[in-house]
Amino acid sequence: ESLLARIERLDGELNSFITVTAEQALQAADAADAARAKGEAGPLAGLPLALKDIFCTRGVRTSCGSKMLDNFVSPYDATVVEKLAAAGTISLGKTNMDEFAMGSSNENSHYGPVKNPWDLTAVPGGSSGGSAAAVAAGLVPAALGTDTGGSIRQPAAFCGITGLKPTYGRVSRYGMVAYASSLDQAGPMARSAEDCALLLGTIAGHDLRDSTSVARGVPDYRAELEASLSGLKIGLPKEYFGDGLAPEVEAAVRDAIKVYESLGASVREVSLPHTDLAIPAYYVIAPAEASSNLSRYDGVRFGHRCENPADLEDLYKRTRAEGFGDEVKRRILIGTHTLSEGFFDAYYKKAQQVRRLIRQDFLDAFEDVDVLMGPASPTPAFDLGAKKDPVSMYLQDIYTIAINLAGIPGISVPAGFASGRPVGLQILGPHFAEQQLLNVAHQFQ
Ligand code: GLN
Repeated sequence: ESLLARIERLDGELNSFITVTAEQALQAADAADAARAKGEAGPLAGLPLALKDIFCTRGVRTSCGSKMLDNFVSPYDATVVEKLAAAGTISLGKTNMDEFAMGSSNENSHYGPVKNPWDLTAVPGGSSGGSAAAVAAGLVPAALGTDTGGSIRQPAAFCGITGLKPTYGRVSRYGMVAYASSLDQAGPMARSAEDCALLLGTIAGHDLRDSTSVARGVPDYRAELEASLSGLKIGLPKEYFGDGLAPEVEAAVRDAIKVYESLGASVREVSLPHTDLAIPAYYVIAPAEASSNLSRYDGVRFGHRCENPADLEDLYKRTRAEGFGDEVKRRILIGTHTLSEGFFDAYYKKAQQVRRLIRQDFLDAFEDVDVLMGPASPTPAFDLGAKKDPVSMYLQDIYTIAINLAGIPGISVPAGFASGRPVGLQILGPHFAEQQLLNVAHQFQ
């Protein structure tokens, strides 16, 4: 009740929620109390949290930040939503996001931008900007986000919280509205690595309804939090400390790395030679997959439908013209172009080959070091409205995007401030190294 009152008081300004489900939350709280009284409480009984509005929630609007799904009430729960409810958590609502998770500032939402709680003139980052702002403002202790090219880690960095993108396949994508299916992954956003560990342990695991989820046991992600970091080998990718990195961000990140040295870790420089190809490869592959995934929004079965269509083609055209925002249309056009006959080999196939090289860069680096460290973003949170040109927005993703192309896990941890705005230290590990990433993040906190 106190959090619902806090949301009521503060969220008019922040705009971090699209839908607040107060009534359902209070019912779930009663159910958690009753379960506790019977000794049947789940491990997270009574924990309030928020869900990015990309996760399907039965009986509750799931808009994905789009006019296209403004009227869509999901008939089923995503696997992660089911798992969180089974553990006894209480969802307070659905958080704001860039439309279909396309963006790095949360300014592409049909429901308006979210403000950064640290500075109301700054963006919270995106696309999980609502989840990040809600946690940072103390509206909820934790939230779920998704990360296709940085959308958990970059808003976590901009809002001074901890956000983890798990290994691709660690968490089921069933019931999560698809953007780029070979990159999308859900993960926790919270105030500490320990809280992220609790949530990851709840949502991770194999799911027969998602054929890309991996059949692999889920460890107790809290078990290793206190393990010593003495002897840990840290690699600093030299490409992550080059041109374009704001000096104050670099200083904060280097200070954080010194803390690790004082904890017994050793640091060496490594190279990820194909780093400069990550943005072009991603912005071919992600729009290609998006153009295919978003073809389902045609006005026929669900979502927005234009008034009085003259015929089927008119229905498609006007529904999509009215329902999608500019950035989504841009991605559909790019994706359709790069997949079309005559361009496929030059763009899509080439991007997939480059993706392989990027993945190999990381595998080679992890032959020599345990984890990689660097900034989550080249700058702290920028001002609302500052990046009008889409390419300048895409360039923001330079340190986060390759991680999704490689499928490895990454976590952003609060590491001080630059120009009064939070800075995130990004820690990367090999596939399925979440336990180690959480240990390393926890020791800093
Ligand atoms: N900013 C990137 C994009 O717009 C990543 C978004 C995300 O991770 N969902 O595609």
